Amino acid sequence: MQEQVDEEHLENILSELEDYQITHASLLKIPRASDDCESTVAIARPIGVSILPTTFPRHLFNHALNIQTLFNQLYMKISEDDAWLQNTIQKLGEADTFVAKLWSIWERVRNEGEVQPLRCGIFRSDYMIHHDSSRTSGREATTKDYINQFLMDSELKQVEFNTYSCAGGAHANTVANMHRYLASKCIHKVSHLPINHAVRSMVEALECAHREYGSPVDKSRGTAILMTVQPNNVNICDERPVEYALSECEPPIVLYRVEFSDEIVRKCSLGPSRELLFRPNFENEAVEISVVYQRAGYDPHEYDQQGIHARYMLERSRAIKCPTILSHLAGLKKVQQELTSPGMTERFIAPDIASVLRRTFVPQYPFDVSQEGIQAKEIALDKHKAENHVLKPSLEGGGNNIYGKDISDFLKTVPEKEWSKYVLMERIRPPLTHGVLISPVDTHKGPVICELGILGTCLWRGDGQGGEKVRVIHNNTAGWTFKTKPEDVQEMSVVKGYGCFDCPSLL
Ligand code: ADP
Ligand code: MG
Repeated sequence: MQEQVDEEHLENILSELEDYQITHASLLKIPRASDDCESTVAIARPIGVSILPTTFPRHLFNHALNIQTLFNQLYMKISEDDAWLQNTIQKLGEADTFVAKLWSIWERVRNEGEVQPLRCGIFRSDYMIHHDSSRTSGREATTKDYINQFLMDSELKQVEFNTYSCAGGAHANTVANMHRYLASKCIHKVSHLPINHAVRSMVEALECAHREYGSPVDKSRGTAILMTVQPNNVNICDERPVEYALSECEPPIVLYRVEFSDEIVRKCSLGPSRELLFRPNFENEAVEISVVYQRAGYDPHEYDQQGIHARYMLERSRAIKCPTILSHLAGLKKVQQELTSPGMTERFIAPDIASVLRRTFVPQYPFDVSQEGIQAKEIALDKHKAENHVLKPSLEGGGNNIYGKDISDFLKTVPEKEWSKYVLMERIRPPLTHGVLISPVDTHKGPVICELGILGTCLWRGDGQGGEKVRVIHNNTAGWTFKTKPEDVQEMSVVKGYGCFDCPSLL
């Protein structure tokens, strides 16, 4: 149950939070090179967190965990269905030059022939809970009993399925541990805070892929994992824990960081069997890369000529990709929208499983000449109808969506032949609950909205022939992320300052 806090109690919690965050690197780095850094050394600030755990229905939390391996299965199959993905991507039209670039990298790899049939995935399925206001008197619930009733009456709805560079696992793990620590000392008077093993699970998946890769082509070399990262990265505290934990495996596994894309081009090369060779320092011996763990390369600006060259080298290499370029494309919002069409999810998985997953889907529309496409235009251009929708391009990382009544004005600025780049998604309406959040700029006490992300890890052997021969080696639920934002904020990215990491207090 959500506790109400007085100012003195809040101060006490804040002082505990500060110490925990600093001690456990619940931080964002302010790199030396950044405008915000007035120091000669890199500094850091605490990442936005909840001061109190926020209430969330236990049965929906458990259900989301329970269906993750089914979603993993679905996306493993999609990732092997080159023909279906091509057909789906074509519907985005020529205006989507970013997706076209990724596809043409894949075509070159496919035409040459892949040398690595093993693929690794660290996925995240994001949900909000939806409350159908027509079933009760609406969202004005104010008393605690009423709010809890609304929460328990809600349904789990998928916001998006991420297949590439899924972040937040380490931060979420730390914040869950923090709230469990505070609760154990009765600083919080909350209970039922679930355990999160996100870091351990991601490490297990990478370890499994690394071991499956086997011996290096040249037996005199060592093997290592390569993590691609963005330059001047602020989010090292979400990435480094995975690297450090790999070094604690027996025998230790080395992970190198490499910046996308300049450093990849300078430090990586392919050997005679397309083994990916990495020179940590130019004078050093090369190591052979077993797994490429992508935490960069999702933003269109990263794909200049050099970026394309770097991604192509990684994709055609013998290293196991986490994920492959086809898995990357499987995470497009266009794919998510296509899966809502009749028969589409069932193309990949049995109807009984599909129907379980479908219950988490909300209606989505393409902008094309189909009946649904005509409906999409009608909704988008009508401010009243658009209010209940979100317009999304196939981009990642937050800040790209257009919400509600802004949609029609926005579309008027885009040539109609480019509308095919977007999908229109019905809005998920979570019941409001009470939360207490702290970000570097502000403290928020009041109505909040939560988003639950379930991490899933998998390793499989594929043949790229329509998903018929996916041989699953590893398929696990791998912990969770839980983020909360003030009610009136549309986006959720914590790194960009919209939401806060939180821990559910299970109701
Ligand atoms: P991104 O790739 O930018 O993370 P998302 O689809 O996750 O794209 O959208 C960003 C944020 O916008 C989400 O975290 C959520 O807060 C909000 N959002 C997205 N889709 C919906 C929806 N259908 N209903 C309500 N909010 C949504
Ligand atoms: Mg998202």
